[in-house]
Amino acid sequence: MIDIYSLTRAELCDLTVSLGEKSYRGKQVFKWLYGGAESFDDMTDLPKAFREKLKETCRMTLPQIARKQVSKDGTVKYAFRLYDGEVIESVVMSYHHGNTICVSTQAGCNMGCAFCASTVGGKTRDLMAGEILGQIVSAQKDMGLRIGNVVLMGMGEPLDNLEQVLRFMAIANDEECLHIGYRHFTLSTCGLCDQLKKLAEENLPINLSVSVHSPFNEERSKMMPVNKKYPLEKLVESLCAYQQKTGRRISVEYALIQGKNDSVAHARALMKLFSPLSYHVNVIPVNQAREGFVKSKKQAVAAFLECFTERGIPATARRELGSDISAACGQLKHEVKQTELQ
Ligand code: SAH
Repeated sequence: MIDIYSLTRAELCDLTVSLGEKSYRGKQVFKWLYGGAESFDDMTDLPKAFREKLKETCRMTLPQIARKQVSKDGTVKYAFRLYDGEVIESVVMSYHHGNTICVSTQAGCNMGCAFCASTVGGKTRDLMAGEILGQIVSAQKDMGLRIGNVVLMGMGEPLDNLEQVLRFMAIANDEECLHIGYRHFTLSTCGLCDQLKKLAEENLPINLSVSVHSPFNEERSKMMPVNKKYPLEKLVESLCAYQQKTGRRISVEYALIQGKNDSVAHARALMKLFSPLSYHVNVIPVNQAREGFVKSKKQAVAAFLECFTERGIPATARRELGSDISAACGQLKHEVKQTELQ
């Protein structure tokens, strides 16, 4: 079965032709998919025989809401059940500049970061483009609003599923789909350098965030196993190449852990390491997700930020949204199939 939400408009037109229909019928189908149709039978201006053929060849399944939680700050977390029973999570946040969704790109994650809940139990599978897109479509439908910004910061490592992630952004960008401009996507990576090179070749005007969390290899390797394969020097080198190609400023993500990586010496070393780059720092006091990681004190957060701002490097602390419903960074969990479903 073809996952119809994973097809670009052009591919849908090709499929339509291969099913013996005129290409423009494909455009009609595409429009219906993102115009509220829930089944092929809703596509009332298509010949019945064509609808039947589509049913035989394609699966038209959006992620189903298995659970929905609303935080006291208004943040909404969804557990979505996919066609095969796999459950993933997404978070919708409302800011003054509009609504942002944090989508998952994999069911679970293989990266093994010590502070992150999403990686416990590893990765079950990659999501298809249509399943990443479907998180937005389903959330918009449920909330009755438009989502204008997408952060690929849910479960999974986007660069470990690059092909589907690129496909997802291309489809979501289509004016007949969600029409979300590339500048409204933020892709976050733990630093898969080889894949970063491939992303650079695409030369997309998306925002790139990189999870750093320590400027010292030994310490970073303990927290983030990916550092053993791609140590910091290699990461910075890849980011430089990325920046040269795309001309985009990079965002450095840094989770502050009390007494571990929140010293002024860490800030200075980070600044030195990233000196060849144009970047801004986005810190977040580490969220409770795994044992042994305690949030930095307010004072330490302020002192860390100050090290950058006094040198004219933009540095901000991320708003902590949704922690009462475990919807904050690092708290999204990979649940075992079919559990806790309503
Ligand atoms: N795999 C990608 C996408 C995940 S984005 C990546 O690593 O970047 C999620 C962000 O939240 C990453 O920056 C991640 O390092 C961070 N994070 C994970 N666990 C966290 C925690 N407990 N507290 C704060 N941030 C955390």
